[in-house]
Amino acid sequence: MTLYDISLTYTEDLPTWPGDPTIQLKQISSIEDGEMANVTHLSMCAHSGTHVDAPDHFLGNGKTVESIPLELMVGPAAVVEIRAEGTITAADLISAQIPAGTKRILLKTANSEVWAAGNMVFQEDFIAPDGEAAKYLVKLGVKVIGVDYLSVAPFTDPEPTHKILLKAGVLIIEGLDLSGVEPGEYTLYCLPLKIGGADGAPARVLLMD
Ligand SMILES: [Zn+2]
Repeated sequence: MTLYDISLTYTEDLPTWPGDPTIQLKQISSIEDGEMANVTHLSMCAHSGTHVDAPDHFLGNGKTVESIPLELMVGPAAVVEIRAEGTITAADLISAQIPAGTKRILLKTANSEVWAAGNMVFQEDFIAPDGEAAKYLVKLGVKVIGVDYLSVAPFTDPEPTHKILLKAGVLIIEGLDLSGVEPGEYTLYCLPLKIGGADGAPARVLLMD
């Protein structure tokens, strides 16, 4: 059995969405300074790093992250490599020949190479599925989609992809680093933090071989 940690590490230099607050890790108690324990105060947006989008994020329907059905977030998943540049279209997904019955899909693109290179500059030209690609995934019966940059949708057009997926009950995992895993079949473990009333939450995400 091999475990692959496909989560990003939260650090202050991890890129965040333009306009969102950056990640802050502040030590508020320090053994070195004579205090009893080291304690860190953490401050960040719910959509930082590896995280899950709740339906409420784009639908405003009150379905917040603590109510996400965890049984969907654990189970068989396919890592599918997409060699698209820019936007992932329905045609890209068709040519990837996604196995029938795939319920959980993680799209591995050149975005993962950005993480592997340690590039901490926000990439506006990251690769993500467009609305038609989202419709295709819904039609296939996909219930969980994971992507390897900070949004499931292209930077310049976030609404269609998010809305199509969330309206269809597809759960979204963003900010994965798939550089260390080969395409293929795995078991996915994605456990978003149980934050009451939040439109998203950080998650530790693992694949098991
Ligand atoms: Zn998000």
